[in-house]
Parts: sequence; C-alpha cells; structure tokens
Amino acid sequence: MSEPPRYRGTRGEAPVSFERALLAGQAPAGGLYLPEHLPRLPAGWQAAGSVSELAEPALAPLMGKENAEAVARALNFEIPLVPLGSGALLELFHGPTVAFKDVGARSLARLMEGALKRTEQRALVLVATSGDTGGAVADAFAGLERVEVALLYPADGVSGVQEEQLTAERAGVRAFAVEGTFDDCQRLVKGAFLDPDLRTLGLTSANSINIGRLLPQMLYYLWGAAQARKEWGSGASIRFVVPSGNLGNLTAGLLAREMGLDGVTFMAAHNRNDYFARYLSSEAREFDFDASVPTLSNAMDVGAPSNFERLYSLFGERLKGAVEHAVVDDASTLARMRRVYEEHGYLACPHTAVGLEAALRAGTLRGSVVLATAHPAKFPEVVKRGVGVEAPAPPTLAAFAEAPKRVERLAAEPAALKEALLIAH
Ligand SMILES: *Cc1c(COP(=O)(O)O)cnc(C)c1O
Repeated sequence: MSEPPRYRGTRGEAPVSFERALLAGQAPAGGLYLPEHLPRLPAGWQAAGSVSELAEPALAPLMGKENAEAVARALNFEIPLVPLGSGALLELFHGPTVAFKDVGARSLARLMEGALKRTEQRALVLVATSGDTGGAVADAFAGLERVEVALLYPADGVSGVQEEQLTAERAGVRAFAVEGTFDDCQRLVKGAFLDPDLRTLGLTSANSINIGRLLPQMLYYLWGAAQARKEWGSGASIRFVVPSGNLGNLTAGLLAREMGLDGVTFMAAHNRNDYFARYLSSEAREFDFDASVPTLSNAMDVGAPSNFERLYSLFGERLKGAVEHAVVDDASTLARMRRVYEEHGYLACPHTAVGLEAALRAGTLRGSVVLATAHPAKFPEVVKRGVGVEAPAPPTLAAFAEAPKRVERLAAEPAALKEALLIAH
C-alpha cells in the first residue's frame, strides 16, 4: 500500500502528517486540514459486514493501518438502515449518548489515545459545549490513559437530559457549569488556548473541525449505500438527505463520493439557519455568514458553519451544482414529526424530521436515505409538542439519569478557569 497522503490547511498552511493534523486540530493560520489527495476505494468494499469492517479498506489508505484499526474499535455500535415508505432512514444514533456525534467523538478519542501513546505525550481536551457534543466527547474520552477532558457548559443553558449526560461522573472527565452563556464558555476556552501559563497541560480541542472526527464519518455513507442497494438493487441511485449544521456530516459524504462512492447525490437539509442553502442558491456570497437563530432542531443552529471552509476549498463554485438544499421552519418540522408518526409509527427527533420534510418536498421518499441524527428521547419536550407522546428512553439514556454526578461551578472569568485547571493537576 502506498503512503497515506499528507494534510494541508485550507489557508495555505504547509502539509503535515495525519497524526500532526489530528493532534493540532486546527492548522496554524486558522485553516482546517484536508488530505492532499484522495485515494480510490479498493474494489470489493461493498462486501463489508459492518461499519467497523469498512474502516480498514476505506481509512487505512488515508491515515495508515494502525489508525484505521483504532476507528474500527471505536465504532462498536450498530448503524441500521430502517425502511420508511419507499425510502429509508440511516439511524446514526445507537452509540452511548444516542446522537450521531458519538461516531466522530469515539473515533477521535481512540485516534488521539493511539497517537499520544506513540509520541509519549499527554493531552487535556478542553471543550465548550451547548449540548450534544459535550456529552459525546465526555463519554468517548472517559477512562483513556493519556487524555483528560474539561467540559464547559452554560449552567442555565442546557436541557435536563443534556445536563445528566454532561455531569455523569467519569474517570478523567471534569464538568464545569459556567455562570454565563455558551459564548462565555467559548471565550474562556479560546483564552485558555492562548495562555502561556497553560502550555504545559497539552491543551487540545475535540470540536467538529478536527480531521480525526470527520474522516470516520465517511464510513456510514458507504455502509448505508451498500445496505440500500441490497434492498433496492445494485444499480439503484441514492440520494442522501443530511440534516445539517456545521456541515461536517455533509463534507464526509462528499469526500466518500470523491473516493469512489458512485451513484449517490446529496441534499443539505437546514432549519432557519440557512446560510448554506442561500449560498447554494446564490443569494449569499461565500463566507458572508449570518448570526445563528434558535430553533427546535437546536444542534443545527449554526450561523457560520465551520466546515464551509473545507467544502469551498475542495469544490469552490462546483458546490452549487453538486448539492441540493432545502430549508425547513419549526412549524413544518413539528407537522412532519406528527405525520411520520401517524403514517408509519416512526418517532423522529426534530433534526431527523427536518431531513424527512426536506426529502418529502420532492414528493416521495423513493431512493432517499435520510440520516437520522439523534434519538427522539433526547428531545422529549419537542417530541411531546409535535407528536403528543413520550419518547421511550433507550437503556443507555436512562442509565445517565441514575449515574452519580460530579460538577464544579465556575465563574465566567479566565482566572477562575486557569486556577481550576492548574490546581487539580
Ligand atoms: C451536530 C448535529 C447535526 C448537524 O451535523 P453537522 O455535521 O454539524 O452538520 C444534526 N443533528 C444532530 C442531532 C446533531 O447533533
């Protein structure tokens, strides 16, 4: 096998190895890493019996065999294709925190642990979270030898279910309830990265810009296409409908297609945070982002999608012909949740419902694989409002409610965070 590619930054930064890109997170001038070239998928990848078995053929050419094996170990949960009408849903939410962020976070955790071991380093992952990401990151990194985690979340700004996940006691994880907003949390994190006194801690980030989170997400597109073609015939063309926020999910799908996943198209489904849809329809200029607005599908409330920079760097203006788009408001999201439940007995989370509504605007689900990004029980209030029923909590979610909790309160002051991080070390 030839050597894996090197990784260049989107802002012209010099190429580095995969592991350097992984441990750095962001490139030095603020760019995002991308492979310098994309290897072709090896013949026969369709025969893999699970998502995990796809890691070796699809990822070893991109990141080396050892790293691909780490991803294979991380993805130890099912990603079933569930038929719905004449289309299907690809359920990405059967990981420990029942949202698709588990795919990226678990892969990243095991990739980092391996890379740190080989280079005999340690790291402290510092994350500001408004909900889903923090829970997935905490769970994924818990108990690893070489990485600890500090999570910052707004004390009054997350849902009850989310707080239970964030504060469940875990080895090597500290949760800080910040007396402020999510923006305060982000400001504290940014400040900590720039603080020379904290250099010795080996601070790193685990947010969605890390290439180690992005590349493993390609695997479920390959898996979903192979499963759908078992149902619909080997020549079936497939439209992936992707509920989108930061566009990491969509970017992974487009990368899979560049590597040779043929016969597939993509639709970006957005809530009112519709910058990307407006870019695609030439109503907004590149990088002329909006402020975010709150919606019922809150994990997609992103005004300035960070992965747009990757997409633009890869495809430029070609994006406009390459990706369909739809924008769905809260009323249509709730109405779609209710109809899908009435017609198919399927309970969708609000993000998945945005995808379903986007797909169905074209009239039919035929040929569509809608990515189901979270378990409905993660959003009990919205499900109750849209459908009028309680979403039954899966066992993993119920376990978080019972688990012992540990949380530290923190003033929204750089000095307070610094003291907390330095003392316990
Ligand atoms: C993060 C998230 C999304 C959006 O994914 P991006 O990769 O940011 O576009 C959609 N649904 C849920 C439930 C999420 O947590």
